[in-house]
Amino acid sequence: MANAKRCSHCGAVFPGNLNVCPYCGRKYKKPLSSRWWFIVLMIVGGLFLIMLIGTLLGELGKPDVRSPEEIAETEYMEVTVDDLYDALLANQLAAEDTYVDAFVAVTGELSYIDANGEYIKISGSTYDMMCDIETTEVLDKVKTLVIGDTITVKGQIKSIDSLGYYMDIEGIE
Ligand SMILES: [Zn+2]
Repeated sequence: MANAKRCSHCGAVFPGNLNVCPYCGRKYKKPLSSRWWFIVLMIVGGLFLIMLIGTLLGELGKPDVRSPEEIAETEYMEVTVDDLYDALLANQLAAEDTYVDAFVAVTGELSYIDANGEYIKISGSTYDMMCDIETTEVLDKVKTLVIGDTITVKGQIKSIDSLGYYMDIEGIE
């Protein structure tokens, strides 16, 4: 049937020149998907969704870097690499409780500089910890250091496992 319409109420198919369904007597309504405003709504909604997803992905991709103001206001817990490992060896669970997410100023000896500029390691008497370089300011500072220097690394401890501590660096002194 050319230009046939399908009744949205009873589902019957009838000639396209009729505006009332001859089977159930209800007025013919265009299906939602062929109304102009529905199509516009879908396009706008779709674009909005794409933007939203893009924004969320952008946020996820960003390193978790705090502003200089936030950093300046932070009171860092002063510890040494040995303090951290003594705590870890004594009780890993308690160490996790105390130090994960804590802002610390850790003093130790610079023992390793990653050639890709992704991290450094600082050592105590026995163990060393991984410190991630997150900003170009920190990277520039690292370029001026020498293995064996005693440094204080300020930042946030991100995690602990049986191998040690992992932190993000906010500054080095
Ligand atoms: Zn009908």
